[in-house]
Amino acid sequence: LRKEVGHMEGLSLVGRMAASITHEIRNPMAVIRGFVQLMRERPGAASEVYLAVIQEELDRANGIIDDFLSLAQNRVVERKDTDLHLLLNKLQPLFMAEANMRGHTLHYRLADSLTLLSLNEKEMKQLLLNLVRNGMEAMEQSGVLTVETRETPDAVEVLIGDTGPGMSEEVREQLFKPFFTTKQGGTGLGLAVCCSIAERHEGTIRVESEPGAGTIFTVRFSKTAQSLTAAARSAL
Ligand code: ADP
Ligand code: MG
Repeated sequence: LRKEVGHMEGLSLVGRMAASITHEIRNPMAVIRGFVQLMRERPGAASEVYLAVIQEELDRANGIIDDFLSLAQNRVVERKDTDLHLLLNKLQPLFMAEANMRGHTLHYRLADSLTLLSLNEKEMKQLLLNLVRNGMEAMEQSGVLTVETRETPDAVEVLIGDTGPGMSEEVREQLFKPFFTTKQGGTGLGLAVCCSIAERHEGTIRVESEPGAGTIFTVRFSKTAQSLTAAARSAL
């Protein structure tokens, strides 16, 4: 994770943040403006379609703002003891809907043990959803997305695997960098956000991927680091 943390540091520079926000928000704004103008010039014409596009672009702009907020380094989020498996089961219908929409299969393989972690539920949901979405976006058709958990004496791991095309070494080296994307219309913020969230939870993310052999992302939470932080917090 060290390396990824290095890329984040650059982001704290106000100038760079401002420049990127400007760029990322202007795109949806330009689209919205264009459609509003169309609607004014031709009242009554296909406005339902225009409105749908406007709503989509507004959601996109909102999503970008959320991502930027998650990247803020000294962000403090409230955490609670959370049953990871309960959270994963709550998210299953959401992941299932995404899988069905794209013609993929979703496999859940949760460990038997009950696992309490100190989590911010909203952030953990965002982290998992970003990884699941990436996996589903990477797979051409009828792929298999696997969500698995493992518990060891000192750590809890969540593995998100896909049967997609995998990635080259060049992509693997850059994928956690903010704004790195190989997708048309991608923001390249998803994995940077994942790293930022994992780091706030004393976690790390690693990736195993080869071209043609699919991809596995592993999010690892150290139990010791989590309880040390909890102890330090309660001592304040
Ligand atoms: P975005 O999804 O907007 O492109 P991300 O930060 O989520 O941004 O991902 C960055 C890049 O990492 C993607 O554009 C893609 O090239 C690569 N990537 C991420 N997840 C996977 C995956 N499961 N399989 C193959 N490539 C991936
Ligand atoms: Mg993404």
